[in-house]
Amino acid sequence: MCNTKAYAAYNPTGELAPFQFDRREVRPSDVKIEIVYCGVCHSDLHQVRNEWGGSQYPLVPGHEIVGKVTEVGTAVTKFAVGDLAGIGCLVDSCRECDNCRKGLEQFCRYGSTGTYNSKDKVSGGVTYGGYSSQIVADEAFVLKVSPNLPLSGVAPLLCAGITTYSPLRHWKVGKGHKVAVVGLGGLGHMAIKFAASFGAEVTMLSTSPSKEKDAQHLGAHHFALTSDPQTLKGLAGKFDFILDTVSAEHNYNTYLQMLNTDGVMVCVGAPPTPSQIMAFSLIGGRKSLAGSLIGGLPETQEMLDYCAAHNIVSDVEVVPVNYINEAYVRMLKGDVRYRFVLDMATL
Ligand code: NAP
Ligand code: ZN
Ligand code: ZN
Repeated sequence: MCNTKAYAAYNPTGELAPFQFDRREVRPSDVKIEIVYCGVCHSDLHQVRNEWGGSQYPLVPGHEIVGKVTEVGTAVTKFAVGDLAGIGCLVDSCRECDNCRKGLEQFCRYGSTGTYNSKDKVSGGVTYGGYSSQIVADEAFVLKVSPNLPLSGVAPLLCAGITTYSPLRHWKVGKGHKVAVVGLGGLGHMAIKFAASFGAEVTMLSTSPSKEKDAQHLGAHHFALTSDPQTLKGLAGKFDFILDTVSAEHNYNTYLQMLNTDGVMVCVGAPPTPSQIMAFSLIGGRKSLAGSLIGGLPETQEMLDYCAAHNIVSDVEVVPVNYINEAYVRMLKGDVRYRFVLDMATL
């Protein structure tokens, strides 16, 4: 077994603190990665605080993992020692069901294995995530990372990147489309970058006036403050596609009224509390409300390759691991520019 240093939540209300556990030995199809950076996703915070239910403690969060391969199993073909590699939200799935065969492992009929806080089919225990010094996973769930991009900015692509890339691709967003992104945080800033890169006209809908300049630097063509009722009225019927990345309770009807005829709004933000949707918000204009969950392994690799080809990375604030509790406090205030990334050398 491989002794591994980590940071863990011990209960839903306390602070994260140092923790040690054993990773499994490398099996023939496994890759072992020394973690260099791990991004901090709002989903980490939801699960640390058990806001979605089902959290198991100690809980080691982290599913935006990049690092260097330090060991490969005898049957590994994709990786060699010294390669850069990444792991996102999944470390296993059945690999045989219809969804897995389509590369939609996130929708595995038998339940995919999350990178943390998930039942580990190999050990029978619980999976531990990337706020740790190293990780062992089957190479089928390990992504290739380009050496040409700054590694700290690549880490958030493994969740924030794929979660925004995937719905934009699925709904074929591009030139001629008017797109709105709701919530300028980790997901929101990647959504702007991808939507603009795909050729759409992008409007940022934010509650934070201080983020207007940044939104423009990130590639948004317009910015609207959602706290202003007059502004909201002016946006009625305007967008073909809205990507909602908001992490807390908010009124979906407010944004649905901004959709054009046949427009689609996709929720990727996952507030822990239910919301009321007025049927009338959808009926007039034949609008659709949909959801999307990360992306499968093939599409995650496609997204990483797209980012390498187009020089796209996340805007990050690299912090030491022991800053994590403060990072969560700032994230809750919407004060992230635009993703915290843990420097695992500080563990
Ligand atoms: P984040 O960095 O904290 O960004 C969330 C943003 O939402 C904030 O910066 C803020 O933007 C806005 N916001 C927060 N509270 C709000 C409120 N009460 N009303 C309106 N806007 C509010 O979070 P993140 O890491 O991007 O994650 C966002 C959500 O996506 C989380 O719920 C997370 O769990 C979920 N998620 C889902 C998937 C998936 O596969 N579907 C994957 C990853 C994450 P402004 O300051 O601009 O208003
Ligand atoms: Zn995430
Ligand atoms: Zn499956």
